[in-house]
Amino acid sequence: MVGFIPEAELDRVLARLAGPYRLYVPVSCAGRVELGEWSPGIRPVLEGRAYGTAKQLFLPRSEELFAFGTHPDGTPRVVQPERDRRPLALFGLRPCDARAIGMLDQVFLGQDPPDDPYRERRQGALLMGLVCSRPGRACFCAQVGGSPAGTAGLDLLFTRIGGGFCVEAVSTAGEAHAAQEDWPAATAAQVAGAREIQQAAAPAAMATPGLAQELEARFEDEVWARLHEKCLGCAACTFFCPTCHCFDVMDAGSYDHGTRLRCWDSCMFPKFTLHASGHNPRLSGKERMRQRVMHKFCYYPLRFGPEACVGCGRCIEVCPVNLDIRAVLAELGGSE
Ligand code: SF4
Ligand code: SF4
Repeated sequence: MVGFIPEAELDRVLARLAGPYRLYVPVSCAGRVELGEWSPGIRPVLEGRAYGTAKQLFLPRSEELFAFGTHPDGTPRVVQPERDRRPLALFGLRPCDARAIGMLDQVFLGQDPPDDPYRERRQGALLMGLVCSRPGRACFCAQVGGSPAGTAGLDLLFTRIGGGFCVEAVSTAGEAHAAQEDWPAATAAQVAGAREIQQAAAPAAMATPGLAQELEARFEDEVWARLHEKCLGCAACTFFCPTCHCFDVMDAGSYDHGTRLRCWDSCMFPKFTLHASGHNPRLSGKERMRQRVMHKFCYYPLRFGPEACVGCGRCIEVCPVNLDIRAVLAELGGSE
């Protein structure tokens, strides 16, 4: 069944979620759209995708894994950090960002054993997406197998039509949640309106079959030397990417008293692969740019299937030297 929520009722729907869930919505922040925790009075921004990504809610920029020390008798002491254990709920998530969370799931949950801090945050999370009716200038989700009306990774899909939202459950968790709610059924005209918006938003997907194999064969190609020339190695592209997930683990404090931290890291930094011996297998920007592109469009798809890029366009928007991943792909023979 497709439900309908009048726009004036949205606050009430969000308020019901905010008790049992930690609820995040797109908010206006210093002239940009960012994901922020909802509280009464906050109106979600319904146009434009967030500048930052939802990945930071499941894989924080920096997190304490545990504190360590010693008991008075000299035995080791390990203390787990206090966390808000309520599940996360995200409203207004863009289909590209939901798809990216599915890709992070493959990495952090698809392994044995799964990654515990990620699993704790992901467990029971409710992902509510909003159809993108006006993609941004740097968006290219359809070229990498996505769609502005895509449902991958989502539990509920909201389509904004005149006066409100059509809501559809698109996962088992979404169906269970919809069954608890008292949303009235959308009328036939409202459903038809939603379908029209979804179809207009969903251009034919043009994935790039064979790109992973093509890139694998071009590992030593001279093109890499040219592609990295402009790059400053600032790593903004990877920190803003919803699918990049490299991290470093470090201890803060002293040998016998401190905290173990996990912090985002980036393959675009020269020291990312520096060995203790002093050897660095990715010595120049050429190797680092190649790694970033190969990971997204060759290694990840060969291992998991889809490309590890959802076409959100953030790396294009934040790059200080306008290095455009679409142009890189075009140069390498993928779609532009
Ligand atoms: S944002 Fe641009 S300059 Fe910075 S590391 Fe990425 S590609 Fe290089
Ligand atoms: S590579 Fe760029 S366009 Fe692709 S998902 Fe990452 S930030 Fe978005």
